[in-house]
Amino acid sequence: MTIPRTIRMHENDNVAIVVNAGGLPEGTVFPDGLTLKTRVPEGHKVALRDIAQGEPIIRYDVTIGHALAPIARGTWIEESLVGMPAARGLDDLPQPVRDRAPLAPLEGFTFEGFRNPDGSVGTRNILAISETVQCVSGVVEFAVERIKKELLPKYPNVDDVVAIEHTYGCGVAIDAPGAEIPIRTLRNIARNPNFGGRVMVVSLGCEKLQPARMFPQGSIAIRNAQQEPDVVCLQDAAHVGFGDMIESIMRTAETHLAVLDLRRRETVPASELVVGVQCGGSDAFSGVTANPAVGYASDLLVRAGAAVMFSETTEVRDGIDQLTARAADDGVAQAMIREMAWYDEYLKRGGVDRSANTTPGNKKGGLANITEKAMGSIIKSGTAPIAGVLAPGEKLQRKGLIYAATPASDFICGTLQLAAGMNMHVFTTGRGTPYGLAAVPVVKVATRDDLARRWHDLMDINAGRIATGDATIADVGWELFHFLLDVASGRKKTWAEQWKLHNALTLFNPAPVT
Ligand code: CA
Repeated sequence: MTIPRTIRMHENDNVAIVVNAGGLPEGTVFPDGLTLKTRVPEGHKVALRDIAQGEPIIRYDVTIGHALAPIARGTWIEESLVGMPAARGLDDLPQPVRDRAPLAPLEGFTFEGFRNPDGSVGTRNILAISETVQCVSGVVEFAVERIKKELLPKYPNVDDVVAIEHTYGCGVAIDAPGAEIPIRTLRNIARNPNFGGRVMVVSLGCEKLQPARMFPQGSIAIRNAQQEPDVVCLQDAAHVGFGDMIESIMRTAETHLAVLDLRRRETVPASELVVGVQCGGSDAFSGVTANPAVGYASDLLVRAGAAVMFSETTEVRDGIDQLTARAADDGVAQAMIREMAWYDEYLKRGGVDRSANTTPGNKKGGLANITEKAMGSIIKSGTAPIAGVLAPGEKLQRKGLIYAATPASDFICGTLQLAAGMNMHVFTTGRGTPYGLAAVPVVKVATRDDLARRWHDLMDINAGRIATGDATIADVGWELFHFLLDVASGRKKTWAEQWKLHNALTLFNPAPVT
């Protein structure tokens, strides 16, 4: 018989979660004498002591809610028993902690990457074809199919050809406040380190987002190379028929492929990694196994001098007091508050609040509300001081731990982290999602042993071993760190790469459409 197990995140917690597969029946007796008065599903919370009505329910040493009825020790804390706490105000937040001991540097780790003219490093060598507007996407898709079949085999050092398809570009209020977000996102995606500094654009001709607006003079800063974006305009008078358009795109693509093909991987320090982390399809294990392991790896990366971005504003909003305390300085704390306030207002305009975040799957997996989800989400950021903050769609300019403000939507978060310049992506999941991106390797970390076993050819790392007692958080954190270096070097592929699984890029456009 399996030993009944719970995990308590902090000694002050009055709840723990049951980690046995399939949950535990009423009457189960734990080694410490705790007896279950009710059945408790896997990943759900059990009361460790009697909790009176109105008393706080504490997990991660944080009040995740108040008891809506008396809860006896040993009882399953169903979602309906948990009253959600109000959001923390954005005034009088804790000041950055000043006398923090710096994390010890981690030296000697390298990977094999593609050095770009602007100094950044790619983990893949990809030709990206940017689009100014959705109207051209069918034509570009047609051309990309032919490029892959007819041209790519001639350029063996180029990994792939990727169209940057999106739904923006026309029929939008392009001068409205907020429109700058999708525009700079597209601009900065074209500059992602995995695209080798080559910028090729397909435009329709009459769209609102003209190439010159997408790439204003000087926006493509390439050192040692004088380069303007190469634009193929479908409405160009020289194009007589569809065949001419495809020939133009292919001819332009080939000039870029020829240059990209000359690139070779070279040994670079681990500090050249730019890792975006996020979670999706979360359950109560996310914050117990996978996210703490990612947090551990995040600290290793920061210690090695790399950049790590964590995101998902609605999922960190409830922990804002922890985050301002962890800011490297007042400017960073203020920028965090600015991004939270902007998002509060954005949600308010839509008539909702942060509680709109949780999904039926989250709740089925044991997460009672967004406060509980947030505590498990923030752990991905490890313990390093927060060195900087990016607004949505901005490009990263520095190393260290960065808060890149994005919605929590997997596709929008991934798209914005791509614009920020990530060259590796880490994605944790408990319920399971086959998420992937075409432009950057996505390393998927399973929160549960059962998911890792069932989805053995989709999940790259099994953090569920932490719940079963077969590995520590540090073990899985190191495993992830080494795996990132291997995948970044091209020595290994993620499962999503193996199967060529990728989701659509999804722009964040808070401005009106017309
Ligand atoms: Ca997400």
